[in-house]
Amino acid sequence: YRVLRRRDIRDKVRIENRVMPVRVLTVDGRAAGIAGFDTRSGRFVTVSAGAVILATGACGRLGLPASGYLYGTYENPTNAGDGYAMAYHAGAELSGIECFQINPLIKDYNGPACAYVANPFGGYQVNNRGERFVDSDYWSGQMMAEVAAEIDSARGPIYLKLTHLPDETISAVENILHSTERPTRGTFHAGRGHDYRTHDVEMHISEIGLCGGHSASGV
Ligand SMILES: Cc1cc2nc3c(=O)[nH]c(=O)nc-3n(C[C@H](O)[C@H](O)[C@H](O)COP(=O)(O)OP(=O)(O)OC[C@H]3O[C@@H](n4cnc5c(N)ncnc54)[C@H](O)[C@@H]3O)c2cc1C
Repeated sequence: YRVLRRRDIRDKVRIENRVMPVRVLTVDGRAAGIAGFDTRSGRFVTVSAGAVILATGACGRLGLPASGYLYGTYENPTNAGDGYAMAYHAGAELSGIECFQINPLIKDYNGPACAYVANPFGGYQVNNRGERFVDSDYWSGQMMAEVAAEIDSARGPIYLKLTHLPDETISAVENILHSTERPTRGTFHAGRGHDYRTHDVEMHISEIGLCGGHSASGV
């Protein structure tokens, strides 16, 4: 986007920010443009084109999050698989759909719990009894099965435990998670009056996502 807006390029390019493509139009099986929806006026728009490049990301919100929060997703919540649907309706084949992904995430927050950052510093996942319950902290099908089973049991909810760590270690974790990884995470916790020194982080489990970025499913 920044490249397209560069002074030497932007004169040759027209950018439409409020049109959300919903279908690739075809002529004799070839892409010939798109039908889009103007999100401000509600009108449908057509754009003819010699080629169409789909760059709509992973399919991270295939269904509504079980937590009940519309933005309670691991992936970008606006990535709802539009590109997959557009390609499919234009005649492309979808493959590897069985290669979906499920992630551990912070409950009610759009993003991961980043246990892969916290665990090397001594954080770990516990159930409501404070017991560590996963065999391997890095995510895998087995780990997600263990997380789902624990949440569904009388031992749920589950937490990323950090409160036992010394202040110096927690500051190091915050410096990574609240800056490099996701600045909104710090404000999310602050908004609840939570601090890793006093509150462990309640975790949840994401819905199924078809992930261009994380696995091999797609067009
Ligand atoms: C929590 C998390 C951690 C990650 N960590 C890493 C990492 O450490 N290393 C790594 O390499 N990768 C990581 N990834 C993966 C990486 O972020 C993605 O693979 C990458 O961002 C995908 O880029 P993209 O341009 O294909 O899609 P995106 O960056 O997702 O862009 C797609 C865009 O399309 C827009 N869009 C969707 N549908 C429509 C529509 N119908 N009309 C108009 N616009 C639409 C969306 O709003 C979005 O802006 C991570 C992803 C997540 C979610």
